[in-house]
Amino acid sequence: ICWSVTGGWHRPRVQPYGPLALDPAAAVLHYGQEIFEGIKAYRHADGSIHTFRPDQNGRRLQRSARRLALPELPVPYFIQSLRELIAVDGDWVPSGPDQSLYLRPFMFAKEAFLGVRPAHKVGYYVIASPAGAYFKGGVQPVSIWLSEDYARAGKGGTGAAKTGGNYAASLLPQSEAYENECDQVVFLDADGNVEELGGMNVVFVRKDGTLVTPQSPSILEGITRDSILQLARDRGHRVEGRAVSLAEWRDGVASGDIVEVFACGTAAVVTPIGMLKGRDFLDEQPSGSLALSLREELTDIQYGRREDVHGWLTRLDA
Ligand code: PMP
Repeated sequence: ICWSVTGGWHRPRVQPYGPLALDPAAAVLHYGQEIFEGIKAYRHADGSIHTFRPDQNGRRLQRSARRLALPELPVPYFIQSLRELIAVDGDWVPSGPDQSLYLRPFMFAKEAFLGVRPAHKVGYYVIASPAGAYFKGGVQPVSIWLSEDYARAGKGGTGAAKTGGNYAASLLPQSEAYENECDQVVFLDADGNVEELGGMNVVFVRKDGTLVTPQSPSILEGITRDSILQLARDRGHRVEGRAVSLAEWRDGVASGDIVEVFACGTAAVVTPIGMLKGRDFLDEQPSGSLALSLREELTDIQYGRREDVHGWLTRLDA
């Protein structure tokens, strides 16, 4: 689906998937003025198609738009864009365990000019792709490489926005992770506090049952994390969002105060972290059952196997 804005959102249309025509001077190619979202459509046992907290993705897209000097797509239009895509062919949404249709809404500057200023001509698109398990090993614990030389975001930068530049900054450290036989990279901020992985938030579980997650203005506020923490609160767990230093992580694991570490995001849902590796250390991470039990509760809601008490689902095919 494609939507363009020049003096207001207009002419939404669904077109066959294929290359986009871009002027070589299009602002996005030079200044990276673009934002995106990631959200899934799930097929329930009765065949109906639902998505999860699209209002949250719509609002985050608006916050990203503000930071990248792009126009804010109204949230109802955002949800409409997902509906219109599903309306073309609901069969795109696969059925089966852990299967979904990954939807990728994105907006970018199409205006052709050379000069650093916000573009006036912008396009909004949604593409889709069937998705299965994110990691090769299914829900096996993942290994994490500590990026000591590179940051993904700085103070006052675009870390809280979902924009390509943050991911561009994470590509080299992510390759370093692969070279060191790790699945993912974890970033620290300038003060040495834990931020997030390349595409997921981090949560620590303490011995007393408290869930602690890094909070900072340069972290992408994950919708999966917010939901998982709400489910934990519903079970009576205490939840803390605050700065977490690397030392607190490593010492907490060494002393047994941290009993579980997991990552969460739309693509990977919830994945235990099994190992943290740096240039000169390798810390095995403790394993527990909370991450997997919260994962099951969340996916049960998403796939309609458990009552949606928080009203998180939005039906897309009706
Ligand atoms: N951090 C980053 C950098 C991400 O790319 C993602 C995935 N969107 C997340 C965290 C998790 O966010 P969400 O749970 O909304 O997918």
